Amino acid sequence: MNTGLIDPFGRSIDYVRLSVTDRCDLRCFYCLPGDYRDFSEPEEWLTFDEIERVIRAFAALGIRRVRVTGGEPLVRKNLAALTGQLAGIPGIEDLSLSTNAAGLARQAAALRAAGISRINVSLDTLRADRFKAITRGNLDKVIGGLMTAKDVGFQPIKINMVVMKDVNDDEIEDMVEFCIEHDFTLRLIETMPIGDTGRSAASHYLDLQTVRARLAENFTLIPGVVPGGGPARYVRIAGTRLRIGFITPISQHFCETCNRVRLAVDGTLYLCLGQEHKFEFRPLLRAGIGDAELQAAVRDAITLKPERHEFREKPQQVVRFMAKTGG
Ligand code: SAM
Repeated sequence: MNTGLIDPFGRSIDYVRLSVTDRCDLRCFYCLPGDYRDFSEPEEWLTFDEIERVIRAFAALGIRRVRVTGGEPLVRKNLAALTGQLAGIPGIEDLSLSTNAAGLARQAAALRAAGISRINVSLDTLRADRFKAITRGNLDKVIGGLMTAKDVGFQPIKINMVVMKDVNDDEIEDMVEFCIEHDFTLRLIETMPIGDTGRSAASHYLDLQTVRARLAENFTLIPGVVPGGGPARYVRIAGTRLRIGFITPISQHFCETCNRVRLAVDGTLYLCLGQEHKFEFRPLLRAGIGDAELQAAVRDAITLKPERHEFREKPQQVVRFMAKTGG
């Protein structure tokens, strides 16, 4: 689809991942350091109206999909009000949410009513002790949030599992069973060297091609596609409705089909998860930029998008943490 926002490498950009906070109520060891304090200050956060203005400008130029993320988006106050504002923007056809689900039991119904259509939940383990070790959080709350999301009618619900050697790679089959039982989609993700935390987890990196081969020994995998425009390569498990997506930024990168940019809570647009290229919207917004100039700024920003990440070649490169960029 020709969206009107074409980057220097001919890719059509139609997807914004919108980080509404860099804070999180969990501390996954591969994501945020346990003692991290360097969060942005409230005065640096884009207000809901500023976020809406930027997303309106993107939508006027062809952005069709917005995913609300963080940090943990549910810790931003009144998130449902913001999602209601975003859902009302002409051109936005798909408004989704990535969450750890710890606070979802309380918010699922309101978010659905406010226009979130799809939910992705990060869940690396089904064992309470292991969950605590990985995230410092409480698994029961997450499972409760997930089940509430299912009850209020979110469909599909996708489970994102970062697969790590000697951490949770013995649980993939359990996760497959869990997702079959609840009719969730499962997506397996390779660890990326983002921030010191991501790099410290590099020793747990597992090439998902080997996981796929392992699953193929136990299940009949039927290759297929799931609409959504993301980077996952999907298979279906024969005899079930379960689809498993493999997200392989390291073993098989997908930069040539990248269709996205990331807007951080402080108004910084990151053009690539694995590079420093960025564009600052907050100073423009607070200097009173007009709508036409804002759209011109969006076009300028897209010209900065680099060709690809270099996680393999330069694993030291990305110093910011995932929560800052917006996962
Ligand atoms: N809090 C929300 C959530 O839990 O989905 C959204 C933000 S979180 C940063 C987004 C995703 O990034 C999560 O699935 C998390 O597991 C993943 N993530 C964080 N650091 C990562 C890393 N170093 N490598 C791979 N995935 C990572």
